[in-house]
Amino acid sequence: MPPPSWRAGLDAVADLLLPPVCIACRARIMGHGLLCGDCFAKVDFIAPPVCARLGVPLPYDAGTPSLSAAAIAAPPVYDRARAVARYSQTMRDLIQSFKYRDRQEGLALFSRWLVHAGAELLADADLILPVPLYRSRLWWRRFNQSAMLAQRISKLTGIACDCFVLKRVRRTASQVGLSAEQRVRNVAGAFKVEPSRAQIVKGRRIVVVDDVITTGATAEACARALKRAKAARVDVLALARAVEPPPRALKDLRGAG
Ligand SMILES: [Zn+2]
Repeated sequence: MPPPSWRAGLDAVADLLLPPVCIACRARIMGHGLLCGDCFAKVDFIAPPVCARLGVPLPYDAGTPSLSAAAIAAPPVYDRARAVARYSQTMRDLIQSFKYRDRQEGLALFSRWLVHAGAELLADADLILPVPLYRSRLWWRRFNQSAMLAQRISKLTGIACDCFVLKRVRRTASQVGLSAEQRVRNVAGAFKVEPSRAQIVKGRRIVVVDDVITTGATAEACARALKRAKAARVDVLALARAVEPPPRALKDLRGAG
C-alpha cells in the first residue's frame, strides 16, 4: 500500500480523471460516493420516535418504547425492524441503480447509514445475514447487494457475517407490483436455513440485512425460517421502508379532496 502522501496524490489524480459526482443526480460534488446537497435534502431519513417493533415513525415521543397501531394489530414474526429512510423517490432511484445498474459507488455511504440506523439492533447482535437471492437471479445480477451491505456492516462493527446461512430454496416472482397478500403468498416457504449451518443460528441474536422493506413479507419469511432454527432474536435492517402516511395526513387528504 502506498504511503499516505502518495495516496493523497493518487486520489487527486483520480479526481481529475473521474471527477466526483452525486450518486443520485450525477452533479459535480467535492468527494466520491456522496450525495449533493439537493439530493441529500430529498432523503427522508427516519428519526426517533419510531415504533419499537416495526421501526416506522411515530407521531410523538411518549418517552418509553412505544408500538404503532399496525404492530399491535399484527405483530411481525421478526422482533424489530429499522430502516435508514422512507422509500421516497430519491431512495427508490438510489436503490434501483445500486441493484440493477451495478453502481457500487454508494456502498460505503449506505453501509454507514445502516450502521447508524441499526445501532440499537447491532449493539448486542451475534450475527449478520443478507437476504439471499435465488441462484439464477444471483447470476443474472452478478452479485447480491444485500450481501455486499451485510459484509460492509460486519467490517464496520466487527460482528460476524455469514452469507450462506439463509437459502432461497425456491424461485420467487419479483415482489414489484404485487399486492400485500400476493407478496406473502409469493415468499411463503421460499427461505430455509442451510442444515449444515443450523448450529450457527441456534440461540443467536441475528440481524438480517435487506435493501427495502415494503410490506415486510420477505423479512417475515426469513424470520420464520430463522426462528424455526431456534434463533434467539431476529431483527431486520434495511435501507428503506415503505411507510404508510400517518392518520393525520390521510385526514388532510380527505379534507382536501
Ligand atoms: Zn444530486
